[in-house]
Order: sequence, then C-alpha cells, then structure tokens
Amino acid sequence: MADHQAVTLFIEWPLNGIDDNNPQDKSGSPMTTNVVLSKAENSPRLFKHRGRLRFRGLILGLMLSLWLSVAGVQAQTAKVRIAPALRTRNVILITVDGLRWQEVFGGVDVTLMDKDAGGIKDLPALTQRFQRETARESREALMPFFWRTLAQQGVVFGDPEQESKAVVTNGLNFSYPGYSEILCGFADPLIDSNAKKDNVNVTVLEWLKQKPGFENSVAAFCSWDVFPFIINETRSGIPVNAGWEPLTPDASLNLEGSEAVAALRELDEFSLEIPRYFPDVRYDFVTFRGAAEFLKAKQPRLIYVSLGETDDWAHAGRYDLYLDAAFRTDDYIRRLWQQLQSMPEYRDSTTLILTTDHGRGDNRIEWKNHGEKVDDCEYIWMAVMGPDTPHQLIRGTTVTQSQIAATVAACLGHDYQKAVPRAAAPLPVLP
Ligand SMILES: [Zn+2]
Repeated sequence: MADHQAVTLFIEWPLNGIDDNNPQDKSGSPMTTNVVLSKAENSPRLFKHRGRLRFRGLILGLMLSLWLSVAGVQAQTAKVRIAPALRTRNVILITVDGLRWQEVFGGVDVTLMDKDAGGIKDLPALTQRFQRETARESREALMPFFWRTLAQQGVVFGDPEQESKAVVTNGLNFSYPGYSEILCGFADPLIDSNAKKDNVNVTVLEWLKQKPGFENSVAAFCSWDVFPFIINETRSGIPVNAGWEPLTPDASLNLEGSEAVAALRELDEFSLEIPRYFPDVRYDFVTFRGAAEFLKAKQPRLIYVSLGETDDWAHAGRYDLYLDAAFRTDDYIRRLWQQLQSMPEYRDSTTLILTTDHGRGDNRIEWKNHGEKVDDCEYIWMAVMGPDTPHQLIRGTTVTQSQIAATVAACLGHDYQKAVPRAAAPLPVLP
C-alpha cells in the first residue's frame, strides 16, 4: 500500500532586484512548491529484517535518488508558481502636481480658453500651440512624449473613454495626503493638512532604502518644499532636495568633487536671480536638471522626481501657463527617459512610473481648485513603462493612488504589501 508523504520545498527564486549576492535578503516572495515523495519503501515492515542498518542505507540511497529525479522533473510535473525574473533594476517615479486627467486624456479644455476663465494673455498663440480639431490631436500636441512613447509602449490608467478609472482614496484631494498615499501605499486619516510635519509613516522609498543594494541608492528631487517632511528626510536618511534649497552644497546629495557641481552651481545662480513667484515651490526646470545631474553622477536605483508648477499656475488662474507647464513637464520626462536609455546602468533596465497627487475641479471656476469640497478631484491618471511592462490598453478597470507604492517595490522585486498589510496591491503592470 502506497504511503505518501508531502514534502514542501522552499525555492528562493532569484527575483530581479533582490541582491543575489546577499543571502540575507529574503524579502522577495519565496516560491513554494509541493513535491510528493513515495514513502512505500520506507515501510516499517522492512526494518524487521536483519542487517537493517545496511538496508536503511540502501533505502536512504533510493530515497535520495528518487528525490533528485523528482526534483529534476518537478518543473514539469508539480504545481510550481514561479514569477519570471524581472529585467527592471531601477525605478524612476515622477509626479506632476495637480495635472488634471481632462488635459492628459483630452488635451486643451476649450471651455477654459479665454481671459475670463483661463486668465490667458495671448489666446491666438496658445490656440496655435495646443488646440486641435480633435481631443486626441490636442493631447498629443500638449504631451507628445506621453502619447507617442509612453502610451504606445506602456500602460495608462484613468482614461474615461476606456472606462478606466484611477482614484485617490484619502478623501481630501490635496497634496500632502496624496503624496503620502502614493509613497506609503495607504491613506492615513491623520494626515489632513499640508503642514511641514514629519510623516510618521514610512514611505516605500525609506522601506526600500533599508534593503541590501539600496542603502545609498535612493534619492528625491522635488519642487515643493514640504517633501523633506513627507519623506521624513531626517529619519529616513534619504537625500531630499526640495523647494528653493540650493543644489550645492547639499551635503545629503554627497556630490562634492563630482562633475555635477559646476552645473548645479549654475542652477543655483539662476535660482537666486529669477523672481520667486511661488515662495514654497521652485521652478520645475531646476528640479528636473538637478535630478538629471544626480542620475549622471550617482546612478541611484530609485529616484523620485516631483514636479510642481502645473498645480501652482492653475491656482494662479493661468490656464496658459498651466498648459505650458504640462508641455514642459512632458519634455522633461522625455529628456530624463532618453538620458536613462543612453546610460548602460539604466538602459532597458529601468521602469518609469508617472502619476499625480490629485485631480481638480471640472468647470470654469473650479478647475483652479481642488480638495474635499470640490467635486471630482479624486479622479487622476497613472502611467507605467518599462522592460517588464508589456503595452496594453486598459479598459473597464479601477485602480487607486495607493497602489503606486507596492508597484515601485514590485518592479524592484520586493513584496511591499506583505511587509505593510495596510498598503494596496501593485498595479497590474508586471507579468
Ligand atoms: Zn494645489
């Protein structure tokens, strides 16, 4: 009579992103398989024989060879759940503050194209730049990299035309709660203002920084000066260069002596010589160029770039400058992506994740605003492109802002949700 014993083998699959040289890194999901070994020969009756020790040796030998043969064919015969190794080694996360899905998917909103609603100074020039016969042509004129490259090669969430929704879950629909939801993977009801208070929650940036291979490989460049608190720069030790803070010297960036210093010094000079229209938000070109120099000099595996002008020009009621900021932002993203593809450390091994912290109102007055009391600000957009993300058209799905954190980790081979059960699951962008 056959007597079976189930033996569970734990196979640590070499997930990409886990430091394969470091056996302590067990945070990737261990792949489990059940292999059933026959124990028939191990019947107690056999051991009644004389010379039972010799027999036992023979049995053990048989067991071993059976084990090996089973292990050899288990990939074909047993139920094995093995995630394919990922090609992503690096992630660049970019957010564009308060950029509406209306412009991302529809291009120019013609109901705002006048002086009254949009504060537009030169309507013919703006019309010529971005307004087209169709929404599709207009969105492509406004964000050419997004529509010609990212959407063609990757995945886009939140397009109402595809009945695809991307939503904020914190219910407040302004910046600190939104960025905390993006970076921590859950909405925290205690985060209810934009005050410069250190985040008590750990971001996925900080969580990953504690993993082998990421200790000195996470950084953030942000236009808004609240980010050192959202990311809790003090506790996390992540360099966060934000607001009007000089790029050099910034001891946390550890760039002294590198070739980046001359370029960063020039940016700092610009920053001192141009009017500070927004006291708490520097111009995005400084953030973008700072990040680009840092990528060249330090090659971090995870970088967060947070651009802010779109939100501030909207609050200022300047639809022309809001569109101009969206267009420039798209070009900054193109240039960052092309720079990464020109560097062997990043080429074909980097995933780009792009989203926003909140939506805005949807009429001639409320487009400038957002928050709990403005309708429909929970609707946002997201996009992902990288070597492990096959292009697909997303239809009829709802995803949430809280899924970004686990997506960042998953692209780097780490299971964030397992460690942080409050966090939402990754976006369906990996095989
Ligand atoms: Zn705002």
